[in-house]
Amino acid sequence: MRLLVSFLLVFWIIHDNAVDINDFSQLNKTYISDIIYPTNIAEIQAALVRAKLESKKISIAGKRHSQGGHAFCPQAIVIDMCRFNRIINLNVADKIITVQTGATWDLVQHYIHHHGLAIKVMQTAEIFTIGGSLSVNAHGRDPRFGPLIETIRAVRILLASGTIVEASRAQNYDLFKLAIGGYGLFGIILEVDIELTDNTVYQKSVHTLQVDKYADFINQKVLSDDQLGLHYGIVSMSPYNFLKEMVAVKYVKHPALSEKTSHACTLSQETNVKFLRSTLNLQRKFPSYHYFARLFNWSNIIMEERQRDVVCRNNAMRHPTALLEYTATSHVHALCSYFIPSESFACFMDYLRASCRTYKVRFFAVLTRYIPCNTESFMSYTDQRRIEVVVFLFHKNSPQGINEMRRWTQSTVDFVLAHHGTYYLPGNLHPTYHQINTAYPQLAEFFAKKRAYDPAEIFVNYFYLKYNRA
Ligand SMILES: Cc1cc2nc3c(=O)[nH]c(=O)nc-3n(C[C@H](O)[C@H](O)[C@H](O)COP(=O)(O)OP(=O)(O)OC[C@H]3O[C@@H](n4cnc5c(N)ncnc54)[C@H](O)[C@@H]3O)c2cc1C
Repeated sequence: MRLLVSFLLVFWIIHDNAVDINDFSQLNKTYISDIIYPTNIAEIQAALVRAKLESKKISIAGKRHSQGGHAFCPQAIVIDMCRFNRIINLNVADKIITVQTGATWDLVQHYIHHHGLAIKVMQTAEIFTIGGSLSVNAHGRDPRFGPLIETIRAVRILLASGTIVEASRAQNYDLFKLAIGGYGLFGIILEVDIELTDNTVYQKSVHTLQVDKYADFINQKVLSDDQLGLHYGIVSMSPYNFLKEMVAVKYVKHPALSEKTSHACTLSQETNVKFLRSTLNLQRKFPSYHYFARLFNWSNIIMEERQRDVVCRNNAMRHPTALLEYTATSHVHALCSYFIPSESFACFMDYLRASCRTYKVRFFAVLTRYIPCNTESFMSYTDQRRIEVVVFLFHKNSPQGINEMRRWTQSTVDFVLAHHGTYYLPGNLHPTYHQINTAYPQLAEFFAKKRAYDPAEIFVNYFYLKYNRA
């Protein structure tokens, strides 16, 4: 009895004091030792000193939209960078902005918009931190540019040794290539100099086509169009033409309206959030409601896409995401990205269609875009030009549901690897050790270089704990 009481006491003390944290997946609830919100470099340096004194690990967090515990691990001190978010300098003439890495793209857009400037490469939406975007080497919808590293002039990083170094193509180039796409394993990226572009005004056009025509569309209508600014595709979820038909959207430089007029437009804000969120909640929870929504959604999507036809780059790069915020109940949603050679796109759609019957997962959106080749980042996922397929799906929030998702993910990664494709790392950590090493044969060397910069392995997260075997 006394043993039970003392055990409960210890359990209560540990769990009462510990903080728990999670990420976008809502499946990685983790007890950490502490979470701090620095607002200046001295506080970040102090956290590093404290972790060393307390022999604790450090994990670095942005907005925690990576889905595999990439921003934390058990009992770590988590440094949440979101309040370290000052804009340090904007050089309008050279179109270069210097920001602290806790800043989000939204903050940067608000700062540069009335200077007639826009972002070259960012994710589909503006909600992510710059630090989190750098650490996954994010990519966007402008097919002229590859991943984020292409637009980075220099970064300033706090290393495990406590020194702050500048890394760029001119100095510490090795570290530059490792830290961008480095998943927070090489040090804390403090500041960054980012190249911007003009806030061009676009004319939007929408094309409906069969998925087996998409590879040609990319070559003939996207890559050959030198006036094109942004492109993406939406694949049908309707039971009538499920993963067979799609709309391809192009934003082309408006013949008359220049960025000089883009000052006039205000940055768009999300609307109907409550309504969209509740319909998505219903679709997530109730498969039958989801089925009916799919019946009607397709024509709505085509109509919706056809509406707003003149838009500036900043607004075209802002995308509704508030509807995705929710509290997990019986079901959760997940996002997975795969990069597939264009000649295998149509058969990948066939595979995905069949996979929905084999595994208990439900798709609620499949989006596409073109990603050019760029191998500068050490953990590059764009070693070939490919089509990215982003799959949003629902699965049960239960051990069986998670296991189904694991089986679907591993089967899908096998398919993609067999077709000379690869997968994006900020998703769940279901791919096996063999699969990640096949997709990223440089992984072991990446981790070895990490230990060269961080011999005590102070910067840790679940990604490192799962796949590092040294
Ligand atoms: C709905 C949704 C849409 C998405 N769309 C896209 C897309 O269009 N294109 C794309 O490329 N990706 C996309 N992603 C993936 C997204 O870009 C990554 O998950 C990104 O890391 C999220 O940024 P964050 O601020 O949430 O970072 P977090 O998830 O908090 O952190 C990501 C990684 O960065 C590290 N990190 C964070 N800040 C720092 C820092 N200052 N120094 C060092 N390391 C740091 C963390 O340790 C972690 O390893 C999407 C994800 C979601 C959920």
